[in-house]
Parts: sequence; C-alpha cells; structure tokens
Amino acid sequence: MKKFLLPREGQFYKANLHCHSVLSDGTLTPEELKNAYKAMGYSVLAITDHDIMVPHEELNDDNFLTLTGYEMEVNEQIDAPWPSKKSCHMCLISLEEYNKKQVCWHPEWYLFGHAAEHKDKIQVDEETAPYIRRYGGEGISEMMKIGRDKGFFVTYNHPTWSLENYEQYTAYHHMHAMEICNWGCVVEGYQEYNPRVYDDMLRAGKRIYCIGTDDNHGGGDMGGAWVMIKAPCLQYRAVTYALQNGHFYASQGPEIKAWWMENGQMHITTSPVKEIVFTCGNRHALRICAGEGKELQEGSFTVTEDMGYVRVTAVDAQGKCADTNACFVDDLLK
Ligand SMILES: [Zn+2]
Ligand SMILES: [Zn+2]
Repeated sequence: MKKFLLPREGQFYKANLHCHSVLSDGTLTPEELKNAYKAMGYSVLAITDHDIMVPHEELNDDNFLTLTGYEMEVNEQIDAPWPSKKSCHMCLISLEEYNKKQVCWHPEWYLFGHAAEHKDKIQVDEETAPYIRRYGGEGISEMMKIGRDKGFFVTYNHPTWSLENYEQYTAYHHMHAMEICNWGCVVEGYQEYNPRVYDDMLRAGKRIYCIGTDDNHGGGDMGGAWVMIKAPCLQYRAVTYALQNGHFYASQGPEIKAWWMENGQMHITTSPVKEIVFTCGNRHALRICAGEGKELQEGSFTVTEDMGYVRVTAVDAQGKCADTNACFVDDLLK
C-alpha cells in the first residue's frame, strides 16, 4: 500500500514565508509586494517585517493569501562591532487568522527600520510583554517555545548570515522549521543554502522541517527560493495546517510532483532534473545521475530501520535544488 509523504489530494501553492516591506526595512509597499509575487505565480505571502506584525487581509483575493507574521532578532551580548556579533533571527507566522498579537516584545526596544513609525499598529500579547530577549540556547529556546505555545509557526532563519554554528543552533529548541535556503542572503554574498545545517539539526535529534524563503528587502532579491505548499484550498487555516504538518517542500527551481513509500521503498517524481539525491541520518546515501545530456524525473531508494531519517534533494541542470522535508524511519516503516 502506498503511504503518501506529500498529500495525494489538494493543490500546490507557491509561497514566500519571509519578506520585508516599508513597514520595517524593505523598499516595497505590501501592495507592491503582492503584485510582484502574484506576477511570479505565487499564491501565498507572509510579510514578516522586523518586529512589527500587521495583518494584510486587504491584499487577499481568490488567488492570493497573505499570512500574518513578523521576524524577531536577538544579538549576542558581547563587546564587539556589529558585523562580528552572532545573531539569531526567527519568523513567527500566525496559525490562526485571528491571532494578531505579538509576543516577546518590549515597547522601547526591538524596533527596526521604519517599525517605530508604525508602533501604534502593533497589538501586543500582554502576557509576554514587556519581554527582554536573551541570546543563547536558553533564551532563544524560550522565545521559540513562547511563539509555538501562542499559536505561531516558528522558523529559524539564515544561520550563515547570523554567524551561528553547530554549538548555537543545535541548542535551539521548539522551532517548526529552518531556512535551508535564504535567497536574500545568497544575493548579498552569503553561503545561505544550508543542507548541511539541516542534517546537523536532524542528526542532533530535532524533528523539524526545511523551508526556502526570499527574505527580500527590495526588488532584486525576489523569487529565488520558496516553498510549495500542498493544501486542499487557499484558505488561511488550510494553508497553515499544511505548514504545521509538513505538507510542503522547499525549492529554488525543480518541482517535486509526488513522494511516497511502498513496500519499504521511497519513490519520488520530479520535473526534469540532473540528479536525485537521498540523504539519511547515518552513512547511507544514494545519488542517481541522469548522465551526460540526459534528464531524469523519478528515483527510488530502499529505506532500512537504521537510517533514522530520509530526505530527498532534486538538482536541475542549473544546479538549483528542491528539498523535501525529512521523514523519520519510525514513521516510514510502521
Ligand atoms: Zn533576518
Ligand atoms: Zn528577514
């Protein structure tokens, strides 16, 4: 019997889950962002301005949905110039449309770019404010837990830009997902395609998803990395339910059409690509290559109990990747 790892029913919706507007330090208005993303075939956009969460329902239409969210940051408290300090950024996206209250906020701090001018638009979660953020495993895990407990989808952003390494990011708990690719950082010159960080996190025991985002601040950093969300319809809760349950994959180009298990074998079908790579929690792996001048659109892999998890990467002729979430063997072989 087939076990579908992406839902068989439903439709794929292209989404950018990390984006900045003029409300913080972006150069485009929310409306300009909508128009640009719609023109690129996106259906879902989370405008996650720095420390200012403003719903953008007015931009929603039959084919376009905005998700409500914001990005929080906390910097390492050391005596060093800013470019040398480690930093941790996370996006919080409301799982319920009515959840419009920012958590872990302080009325005097944590305003970035133009956010101070729009302070009156902020609805604060009084139970968690005023909040003093602390850098480090404990402080950041607490922020992630508060976000999760208060009904947000919590993502860990751009570890490379943040100068964070294994010691820092494996100490962060309660995130739902991490950015396997942050396109805005790639455009700026950072090595921000992070498959190794995702494997580090998974091998450290985290059961998290991976997302691709633009983290765009202007016009030249849009449409480079995204997620394809499979949901029954383009309604707020249907889309966030799909996020919560991992019904999506990350991409910079290739498409994943279907992904399933059958008789201990993992199968995937994709748009035409050069390679399909299976990565596991232990020292098993498989790279299927199309060969010179050829392309392939499917791959299979035998899953065994010792693998811990399995995830798949499809790589196209331009070197662009699509990444599935990790699936855990205890789930896959049950
Ligand atoms: Zn950031
Ligand atoms: Zn950002």
